[in-house]
Amino acid sequence: MALVSTLEILEKADKEGYAVGAFNINNMETVIAIIEAAVELDSPVIVGVSESAIRYMGIKMAAGMVKTLAEAVPISVGLHLDHGKKMETIKEAVKNGFTSVMIDASDRPFEENVKITKKVVEIAHSAGVSVEAELGKLPGPEDDISIEEREAFLVNPEEAEKFVDQTGIDFFAPAIGTSHGAFKFKAKSKLDFERLRLVKEKTQVPLVLHGASSVNKKLLGAAEKYGLELSGARGLCSEVLKKAIKKGINKVNTDTDLRIAFTVGIRSVLLQEPSVFDPRKIMGPAMDFMKDVVKERIEVLGSVNKG
Ligand SMILES: [Zn+2]
Repeated sequence: MALVSTLEILEKADKEGYAVGAFNINNMETVIAIIEAAVELDSPVIVGVSESAIRYMGIKMAAGMVKTLAEAVPISVGLHLDHGKKMETIKEAVKNGFTSVMIDASDRPFEENVKITKKVVEIAHSAGVSVEAELGKLPGPEDDISIEEREAFLVNPEEAEKFVDQTGIDFFAPAIGTSHGAFKFKAKSKLDFERLRLVKEKTQVPLVLHGASSVNKKLLGAAEKYGLELSGARGLCSEVLKKAIKKGINKVNTDTDLRIAFTVGIRSVLLQEPSVFDPRKIMGPAMDFMKDVVKERIEVLGSVNKG
């Protein structure tokens, strides 16, 4: 079917108490893996495109692939701009049929963040596109794997209430202790659940968890087997993620797990079959590894049969 409003997908999840995966794409193989996995589990899905992915493949290619595939499948697929920083990219995303955009002005002072976000809401809403914004800081730049764990600057629930009210955003990303990349925690994963509960109570909108990749044992085992160096990597464990969903998270972002799966898939072929040079034989296993990741996530998020 045609792309579905991200807000519609998330409002249903909010009402019924589950979360929907937002998976980032970097190439065609990732798009196919994400959508095929969601179809097989009859789950709604959100495809995330970052500004750097747009720089890599062009916005028309990114949007075109997702739209074309979405039209051929029976599940709800949303197309989302992840961490939009530039007004120009926001406008381009709206023009190219994205069903939601994130404006990330979380590095600006509160009032400035409100002002920028309000402007984005105006532009996006006039085209029927929903908006996500963020308060607080997640350590680690979105597209780098930070090797140091840094203290997160967590969201203030009172400010969150004011922010959502003043900007009119549709869903909200509070910083509650996760971080981007493969090195999220030094020990066990830990989120500030009380803060999350308060934010949900005060904002009453679908909430988004960034930096939510699992970097689980299975992935790390495969990484080790095929020589991908990731020692010390640690993600968000399923139990903690499930608890966060119970407390109001409805959109869970995953990028790192897919990057690891992709690389492991490629390495598995190149290491084991030195005579292979057919791109399809190299990329095929990468797709299978990514599909497994998406399916595992969908099971944890509780969106099976909600497609
Ligand atoms: Zn993020």
